[in-house]
Amino acid sequence: MEDCIFCKIINKEIPASIVFEDEKMIAFNDINPQAPIHILLIPREHFASLNDIPEEKKNILSHLLLKARQIAQEKGIAEKGYRIVLNTEKDSGQEVFHIHFHLLGRRRMHWPPG
Ligand code: AMP
Ligand code: ZN
Repeated sequence: MEDCIFCKIINKEIPASIVFEDEKMIAFNDINPQAPIHILLIPREHFASLNDIPEEKKNILSHLLLKARQIAQEKGIAEKGYRIVLNTEKDSGQEVFHIHFHLLGRRRMHWPPG
């Protein structure tokens, strides 16, 4: 989608530190990390937020989640723990309107979130 910064990363129009990619998704390091490990996982297909994922595309959500788990295992944080965040629309703090999971780890997280 035009003017979407994450679509531009997918199309290699702007650079990113890519951690993983396959035919459905890519994962890359967040440019402003909030933890020692802060990776974003996004579908190649553009959906603005969770609210825009149609029922017939629901498999992309499990694919992204299980890939986040696999990356956590590969980074060695699975046992100690990690946090996956899916901000959805304005009140959540979503700033980039191409759906993305945040994978955060290698530090103790706080609850409740801000
Ligand atoms: P959210 O607030 O959930 O929409 O999160 C958007 C995230 O995208 C933030 O953590 C930003 O630091 C991150 N971000 C924005 N632009 C880029 C970029 N060009 N490369 C990597 N991460 C980015
Ligand atoms: Zn996009």
